[in-house]
Amino acid sequence: MAPALAVVGALAALLGALLGWAAVRFRVQRDPMVERIDRLLPQTQCGQCNYPGCRPYAQAIASGEADINQCPPGGEAGVRALAELLGREPKPLNPEHGEVKPPVVALIVEDDCIGCTKCILACPVDAIVGAAKQMHTVIADLCTGCELCLPPCPVDCIVLVPPARRPGEPAPRAQSRSTV
Ligand code: SF4
Ligand code: SF4
Ligand code: SF4
Repeated sequence: MAPALAVVGALAALLGALLGWAAVRFRVQRDPMVERIDRLLPQTQCGQCNYPGCRPYAQAIASGEADINQCPPGGEAGVRALAELLGREPKPLNPEHGEVKPPVVALIVEDDCIGCTKCILACPVDAIVGAAKQMHTVIADLCTGCELCLPPCPVDCIVLVPPARRPGEPAPRAQSRSTV
């Protein structure tokens, strides 16, 4: 019995040493400039900058691949902040990436939801909860208003509302779909 325990102990120690070595060997070094740029971005994860999220856009700015005026949710103030950080001249937002809009959050018209789960798969910040064939709900505090959940909804039952209108308001009715 004792030899078996000794072997198990030795194997556990070896495994621990290997894991420790791998953690050091393959540790991902984070670029401090990417971190600083990323902190200035709105974290909406909407993709309007043509990158799949704020961090990839921050990486593209840091590498010189992307310009600083591609983020509509950040607005002109965001461009100015990036310009200051990078020691560049501010410039107007590039309209090819969209325009500045007032803040919104998504709201699911729950009576119309068929529980297909497509919106959950589309949401980049896990702000939607629900199960298959069950009504779904948006966690408003997590929603960035990125609108990415709207196109996949087959019954158009997700609407955008101003955040200030949420408390105590009845859920609006979804617009009926065009059958033309
Ligand atoms: S447009 Fe702005 S908020 Fe949207 S993903 Fe790109 S950096 Fe993030
Ligand atoms: S719920 Fe919709 S609008 Fe809100 S963050 Fe998720 S995908 Fe974007
Ligand atoms: S995509 Fe639309 S119908 Fe499907 S679960 Fe989401 S809100 Fe409900």
